Amino acid sequence: MTTQLLLAYFLAAGLAAAPSGPKNVILMIGDGMGYNQVQAGSLYTYGAYDGQPYWRYYVDPISTQSLDNPNAYEPDRAWTSFGYFQKLPTDSAAAATAMSTGVKVQNGLIQMTEDGQRLDGLVDTAEAMGKATGVLSTVFFSHATPAAFVAHDASRKNVAEIAQEMILESPVDLILAPGHPWFDNDGKQVGGLEPDVYASTESYDYVGGEALFRQLREGTAGGDADADGDPDAWTLVDQTQAIQDLAQGATPARLLGLVPVHATLRSDRGGDVAAPPYAAPINDSLPGMADMMRAALNVLDNDPEGFFLMAEGGAIDWAAHGNQMGRLIEEQVDFDEAIGATMAWVEQNSSWEDTLLIITADHETGYLWGPGTGPVDTTAATGAAGQWLPLENRGKGQVPGHSWQIHEHTNQLVPLFARGAGAETFAKDPRGHDPFRGTYLDNTDIPKIVRRLWR
Ligand SMILES: [Zn+2]
Repeated sequence: MTTQLLLAYFLAAGLAAAPSGPKNVILMIGDGMGYNQVQAGSLYTYGAYDGQPYWRYYVDPISTQSLDNPNAYEPDRAWTSFGYFQKLPTDSAAAATAMSTGVKVQNGLIQMTEDGQRLDGLVDTAEAMGKATGVLSTVFFSHATPAAFVAHDASRKNVAEIAQEMILESPVDLILAPGHPWFDNDGKQVGGLEPDVYASTESYDYVGGEALFRQLREGTAGGDADADGDPDAWTLVDQTQAIQDLAQGATPARLLGLVPVHATLRSDRGGDVAAPPYAAPINDSLPGMADMMRAALNVLDNDPEGFFLMAEGGAIDWAAHGNQMGRLIEEQVDFDEAIGATMAWVEQNSSWEDTLLIITADHETGYLWGPGTGPVDTTAATGAAGQWLPLENRGKGQVPGHSWQIHEHTNQLVPLFARGAGAETFAKDPRGHDPFRGTYLDNTDIPKIVRRLWR
């Protein structure tokens, strides 16, 4: 057969036109979500350790070390010293950069190396393939995790600059998160009121400053997202009902969905932070993360080439920093509901042959374990220097028995779940074997595997 005939044959058979790899990739990151955070949500909701349906798609843990730590994860040392996991843990910026770009960096860096080189991430890879791209978070959008999938900065602290880059210079098609300058952390309106609507008691930093927020309201802000030389303006949607309505019907080409709350959906609200889950009423004027997922997926699925979406449960980490078990469970449950909504969306609007769903974390926060966990006699000849006990199941609807060891991050392995197109690839090349968790991958393997599937 001549080459031309061969080509004609393949075209007729529909083979030459077959796209490679998963059409859609959804990466869901629970910030600060270690095994025990997942289990705390499970014990509260199901009264069981592995109640969430996604346990059926559990693959392996991932290691999370950033370049702040001179050593990669050392499974042989990890469980011999109680302090091992506390030494030089990653932050969210470095971990998200690793999961976006496949490159390890120092803490605080946003898709950038220490010497100032910009790194390309999964958003760039997806855009180059003609896919739609988006980031979603339950905390403000210029915060470390969504920032490290879209922006490039020497410091995560430059939130206003990061927001400006995301809005004015990035190719991303969807941003959906809090950060609204006119609402406080209870979702109460404190700006945007007559006669001087731009006066607010909250800061404009999370959205890149007051001038940019004015442009967003006027519908004039936005760079060239599709590389045709013309600016692509954002459509700003910033009311709860309007955000929920995006789950169905026609949607704008480029959406900045700004949830009407300042920093995060619920974990920074008033009320007793030590109370059990939901004892202090949640901000029920706001969407949950599941509503946000339905909106984001309906916006992104307009692209016939498919999409990449990073969606973060960002305040699991915030509640854990505060050692607030009630609020941690609320955040974990909200994240779990968002996963449920995502799986339902795939089954109704796509398929597991077309879509890859990855659920993981950037690091653990709070060193959360069961009661009685802690260091043990370090003078013992065996070198046994810690005991780690499981959370205590006190039944459905009850806060499990637990102990927080610290207020900071740890470098424990965190779980990874994968379902759908190419999910089996995650089980193929483990980095090593942990005596307690079994084989594990590294956070940089996520973009490497996704890019391999897309090649
Ligand atoms: Zn944190």
